[in-house]
Amino acid sequence: MSKANDVVVIGAGFAGLSAAVALAASGFRVTVLEGKPALGGRAYSFADAETGDFVDNGQHVLMGCYTETLDFIAQIGARDKLVFHEDLEIEMLTGAGRSARLRTSRLPGPLHMTGALLGYRHLSIGERISAMRAGLRLLAMRRRGGELRRLTVAQLMDRLGQSENARQCFWYPISIATLNDEPESSSAELLAEVLKRAFFSRRRDSAFVYSRVGLSDLYCTGAKQFVERAGGVVETRAIVELLEQGEGGRIESVRLRDGRRIEAANFISAVPAAQLIRLLPENAVANVFFARLAELTSSPIICTHVWFDREVTDSPFVGFIGTTTQWMFNKRRIFSKRGESHPGYLSFVISGARKIVDLGNDELLAIAMRDLQKMIPAAREANVVKSLVLKEKQATMAPDLRSHELRPTVTTPIPNFFLAGDWIQTGLPATIESAVISGRAAARAIASRAGR
Ligand SMILES: Cc1cc2nc3c(=O)[nH]c(=O)nc-3n(C[C@H](O)[C@H](O)[C@H](O)COP(=O)(O)OP(=O)(O)OC[C@H]3O[C@@H](n4cnc5c(N)ncnc54)[C@H](O)[C@@H]3O)c2cc1C
Repeated sequence: MSKANDVVVIGAGFAGLSAAVALAASGFRVTVLEGKPALGGRAYSFADAETGDFVDNGQHVLMGCYTETLDFIAQIGARDKLVFHEDLEIEMLTGAGRSARLRTSRLPGPLHMTGALLGYRHLSIGERISAMRAGLRLLAMRRRGGELRRLTVAQLMDRLGQSENARQCFWYPISIATLNDEPESSSAELLAEVLKRAFFSRRRDSAFVYSRVGLSDLYCTGAKQFVERAGGVVETRAIVELLEQGEGGRIESVRLRDGRRIEAANFISAVPAAQLIRLLPENAVANVFFARLAELTSSPIICTHVWFDREVTDSPFVGFIGTTTQWMFNKRRIFSKRGESHPGYLSFVISGARKIVDLGNDELLAIAMRDLQKMIPAAREANVVKSLVLKEKQATMAPDLRSHELRPTVTTPIPNFFLAGDWIQTGLPATIESAVISGRAAARAIASRAGR
């Protein structure tokens, strides 16, 4: 095929598409190759024929601190598809009628968080003050660096003298939701980074940002159009099988499963680590830079979607404490376009779900229903019309202590080959923001080498 490609991007999730859009905006001719029939990778949605609803593979929450992601979404003209909350407000339930809210105050950040903690009734007054002190100590530890990198979240809580109740009702729900793994193995450094960016910075950084449309509609269509308007190409069902090296070890082309070879001046891999390893030329696999990627592991997320014959709650979003289910999202209150066939549509999320990921769908549905009825007894009156259990077994990179040394940089030992993906070394856990930061960094690296 033509040499006119400046850049081939492999993979069309948030990382690949944000890289492609940034490159297209700088005048590069880009070809995006996505193996699946649809764009979006691990953050996608599909239309459910029976209910008329758009179903996300898992509820994705953005936050005000996702500056690169929000900028990317604005760049493709999709900002009006987002709902911006002004303040952080989370209802947390420990049982029926036992509700407390984490609600940031109107004070400028980071003082706004003081108000949230002081008003959080699941903690005793002493625990609230202790949690505030712990937050300040954590920020100081972050500034000093070093020590946090060697601690898990659970060990950090020991150091900070946090009670079991404070862990279960405050620290661990945040940690598991943002790091997607258990506190006993998750990195304290990653949690500190999340807390600094999301909770101890500007007030608006703490607030949630939801998509009012299905995830694919939020960013895939707009990104594709952006790249195509700039003369680029976005292909689906284009499975890359091999990166082919030429003179001097540079990547010369990619070989696709359908037999085609596509050449380019530069290549970005925006696929997960496990897939990348399969694409590498033989001598690259031996290079320690790439060899260590095989040691990265992943952690699952289970999302159970349930449609009811009535609306079970008017809360848009509730955290459950002390149950297997961690969060409940009320899709009828979040999406602007409502499938009207079934009045109730809730989605239940379990992150870091290693221990239960192999249970059958019926058992997982039963867990969601048991937890819902425990927290919201009125739900017993409602009849389940339809359910859908979506297991993402390799949802995100496990945020363990080893991951710090294993996560690679955007640039590689191969001069015209770059990496992007939520698992690249961005200092953040594997999130959309991490994916977009890496995608845009890969684009910048290419632009700067090309002198643009
Ligand atoms: C259920 C769930 C809930 C989540 N919730 C949140 C949340 O609330 N907030 C948040 O910030 N993050 C969340 N995440 C994480 C977020 O989805 C990811 O961080 C992000 O989508 C990763 O994007 P990516 O582009 O790095 O990778 P991917 O989305 O995995 O994209 C990689 C793409 O490469 C393609 N590909 C792979 N191999 C090949 C090949 N050989 N040839 C061509 N194409 C190939 C894949 O098909 C895929 O489309 C969640 C993830 C899951 C699974």
